[in-house]
Amino acid sequence: MREETIVIKKMSRRNFTRKLVAAPLAIAGGQMLGAQIAALPSQDKRKPKTDAEYNRHPPIVEPDPFSAPLTFTRREVNPKVRPFALDQVLLDAGPMQQARNLNRAYMMRLSNDRLLHNFRVTAGIASAVEPLGGWESPKAELRGHFVGHYLSACALLYASTGDSQVKQKADDLVGGIAECQTALAAGGYVSAFPEELFVRLDRREKVWAPFYTLHKIMAGMVDMNTLAGNAQALDVAKNLAGWVDRWTSERTEEHMQEILKTEFGGMNDVLYNLAAVTNDDRWVNTGDRFTKKSFFTPLAMRRDELKGLHANTHMPQVIGAARRYDLSSDHRFGDVSEFFWDTVTETRTYAPGGSANTESWLTNSGRLALEMKASSHHQECCCSYNMMKLSRMLYGRSADPRYIDYYERNLLNHRLGTMEPETGHTSYFLSMTPGAWKTTCTEDQTFWCCTGSALEEFAKLNDTIYYHDEANIYVNLFVPSRLHWESRGIRLQQSTRFPENNRTLITVHAARGEVWTMYVRIPVWTTEENQISINGFHLPTPGTPGSYVALKRQWKSGDRVELSLPMQLSVEILPDDPSQQAFLYGPLVLAGQFPRGELSFDLQHNQAPEPGELPPFELPNLVPGGRSLSEWIKPAAGQPLTFRVTGQEQSIELKPLNQSWERFTVYWSVS
Ligand SMILES: [Zn+2]
Repeated sequence: MREETIVIKKMSRRNFTRKLVAAPLAIAGGQMLGAQIAALPSQDKRKPKTDAEYNRHPPIVEPDPFSAPLTFTRREVNPKVRPFALDQVLLDAGPMQQARNLNRAYMMRLSNDRLLHNFRVTAGIASAVEPLGGWESPKAELRGHFVGHYLSACALLYASTGDSQVKQKADDLVGGIAECQTALAAGGYVSAFPEELFVRLDRREKVWAPFYTLHKIMAGMVDMNTLAGNAQALDVAKNLAGWVDRWTSERTEEHMQEILKTEFGGMNDVLYNLAAVTNDDRWVNTGDRFTKKSFFTPLAMRRDELKGLHANTHMPQVIGAARRYDLSSDHRFGDVSEFFWDTVTETRTYAPGGSANTESWLTNSGRLALEMKASSHHQECCCSYNMMKLSRMLYGRSADPRYIDYYERNLLNHRLGTMEPETGHTSYFLSMTPGAWKTTCTEDQTFWCCTGSALEEFAKLNDTIYYHDEANIYVNLFVPSRLHWESRGIRLQQSTRFPENNRTLITVHAARGEVWTMYVRIPVWTTEENQISINGFHLPTPGTPGSYVALKRQWKSGDRVELSLPMQLSVEILPDDPSQQAFLYGPLVLAGQFPRGELSFDLQHNQAPEPGELPPFELPNLVPGGRSLSEWIKPAAGQPLTFRVTGQEQSIELKPLNQSWERFTVYWSVS
């Protein structure tokens, strides 16, 4: 070990929380002792004190954080760490690069004329192509939403890879929509459906989600400007935002709060982003009209009142809250975003990282076993996409590795696990019903919300691997990749076959001989036997799982950091039924494999079959027989990441959920 290497272990937030919880317990014990003394007979004839009498102070009535009209002052939060620009991180060969390429191939197979068809028809421009189907069909009230996602995905992909074909295709699409905006001459309005849907929204008549769709189109345009340098896209976005500003300003706040009961995506988020891009606070004020106070108020007061809410309607609003906090330092919005993340990830998340059932939260927090039985529509993919997006924003504020632990869990199990490995088609739900299978979209007859968010997801798989502060680098994910930090003159290359292999090698290819720190994430799932070496010299102590190890030294070209992160089997139970158990190996959720058999086209490509539609399936109960996990779940010889459950009535194979395309089971009844 060289002398200049200094190892600093940070206390993870998880450990910090554990220490904190000890203090209030002591106080509670004191109160209990007092109550027992008061209840003793004969020595004191007075009645025992009531709860109210014990309280020296009456409960404090907390002020409603959103009762007053919102005002905005720009006071940006200084993040602790920032992501690298997308073109600074390149993916090398591996599962991430493969998923990105499959996604690109699917994107390039969709013609611009078909994507533009409904926009042109709405604007009175001739279009004779075959329309797309599903949620993009000419009668679907969400039509146009996918085109917005498509633009964002193109922008992300171009920014990541410099792919000129993608850029040209997206530029043409922006031009096509701009042409429709001009032809409509409707005060900046442009969409693939007429303004009539907003008339119905205004009257509170039945309509799908018109603002949701505008959000996707505006976000696509803002992304095309900021990530792909398209100036016309910013004009389209500002014109459309102007229409939104006028429409919303003409309504009372009470009426807007009624309108916000209909899904509106991340209208607040995109308007805040537009304000940041244009440095024009007008768009913040417009965005603030999309503050759904009945949703934000309990969150800001740290109360989980999510039961009964549609999950993906509300997650983008929280992303908007996080953005509002970042722009203004207004702690109310910070509280909303942080408490929401805490309660969803800690009490409403299944093992693969997803949340919700039938797109909604059906129970109070911590009732996942109860909720899971209600249907087989678990873990909508958009929800994971949005929660990962929120995680990145919160991580930037704190550099707390628990956000990355959650991100990685979702990325490996949920997101990579829902892309069909031949076509690049993706899923709507990731069902946790025993014996479920993955259903995927079709080539051009589906276009779920999740088809659109997946397009974006797989266009930016390079975005969280590394972060930085002023001078230092955070290595977060174990992905074959290259980082080039031009302004600091630093190049890194990460070589790994993770997760098939639990080692990774980071080589410094260029450095100016300056002292800086490489913060290497020691994931929460590894063991105390993890090892780090620099140029072959092992550090004397392992890293603490759930923290970073700080490697501070004068880095020079050719320095090699090797990381060994042993994986172990672990169990995760559903909080309201400990007999319902999922098994993991390291960060990978394991799934029992059962033959898929013949399935109809509809069952393969529907959103997800309901339990009653599932072909018969008998889930065996598992009986450990008092053995430790590693004694009854054993590695399968010659098959990496594969295990056999031994000593049961039938032989059961477990392999990673992200490789499971047969019928599978994640949660087992264990007795
Ligand atoms: Zn979705």
